[in-house]
Amino acid sequence: MSAPRIEIDLDKIFHNAKTLVSRLKTHSISVTGVTKACCGAPQLARVLARAGVVSLGDSRIENIERMRKAGINTPITLIRAPMISQVDRVIAVADISLNTEPDVIRALSVAARKAGKQHGVILMVELGDLREGLMPCDVGTAVQIVRQLPNVTFIGLGANLACRNGISPDNDNMGKLSDLATQIDGKADTSFRPMSVVSGGNSSNLDWVFSGGDIGRISNLRLGEALLLGCDPLHRRPIRGLYTDAIRLTAEVIESKIKPSKPWGIIAQTTFGPSSIAQNDGDIFQAILAIGQQDVDPSGLRPPDDIKILGASSDHLVLDTGTTQVRVGSEISFLPDYSALLRCMTSPYVDKAYIGKVETACIISQTRKLHPFASV
Ligand SMILES: *Cc1c(COP(=O)(O)O)cnc(C)c1O
Repeated sequence: MSAPRIEIDLDKIFHNAKTLVSRLKTHSISVTGVTKACCGAPQLARVLARAGVVSLGDSRIENIERMRKAGINTPITLIRAPMISQVDRVIAVADISLNTEPDVIRALSVAARKAGKQHGVILMVELGDLREGLMPCDVGTAVQIVRQLPNVTFIGLGANLACRNGISPDNDNMGKLSDLATQIDGKADTSFRPMSVVSGGNSSNLDWVFSGGDIGRISNLRLGEALLLGCDPLHRRPIRGLYTDAIRLTAEVIESKIKPSKPWGIIAQTTFGPSSIAQNDGDIFQAILAIGQQDVDPSGLRPPDDIKILGASSDHLVLDTGTTQVRVGSEISFLPDYSALLRCMTSPYVDKAYIGKVETACIISQTRKLHPFASV
């Protein structure tokens, strides 16, 4: 096998996804399986669909196109607001998109009409994290705009927290989203059915759901990190019953020497900013792996016990290998966090290896539905 490589154990991810799908089902919450961290890999998409997610979600149109080309016919939601310059591509491959801008929704409507399609619109609401979302006072008007446009269907509200400012989902902000849903349904004229989805957030909502929060009208979560890494992003704690080692990064040793731990000479900046002051631990077993900043976020790697990451440049990861000197040509594996995973997956230098038995069993017989949240 070639190095560096990232190994993605689809059996473990299948287990994680199935477990969360069934746990959330007891709260009447469906799961949108988010594939962006794996660049829309069809292997992952198939496994998530088989595990029972109601739709797939990805932030990039290229990833969604990749899944469609591979024959994935599960409903797919574009989870980043569409670029107005890409509306035709969005309509062609995505069933639903998360939106905040009336101008974009108008362009989606025109594109959908041209293509003879119907496109589902979820309006995102700002709840305090200050990333995407309409201010709550503007949501009512936006719903009316969507409802008047042809070939787009307003299917519900959504929100996203804990991404820009780390604002936690709680009864207060989730309650606001539920109240808004109820208010909008209450005001709608009787020709409109109640909205079919309130998509409350991402993996950071799990803590709130499982700690007995008042679910209110929340009926869907969009999950990526929890399925792939088995942990809750708010505190990076493992989620009970899930695998936290489904994804592993392996790199090869290209130099292994006994060296002093303290650099010598006049210290200025490094390629990546100020030099960190190394403490003097005397001579150490220092090893270099053929992987660097271009391939991975080194601060997001968990090394094996006894091994310490000392630093990284563009192409080198420097380790203190503790009590043993490693052999040149040998391999060392790490558990990546979300940030390290993202960068590995987008580096063309890192080989992606999907392992596990479940994938071969994933022949999806589903026909493509208009959208996954039943009642339009
Ligand atoms: C990335 C993303 C998600 C998934 O987040 P995780 O923390 O990986 O579960 C959900 N919704 C939106 C809008 C996103 O951008």
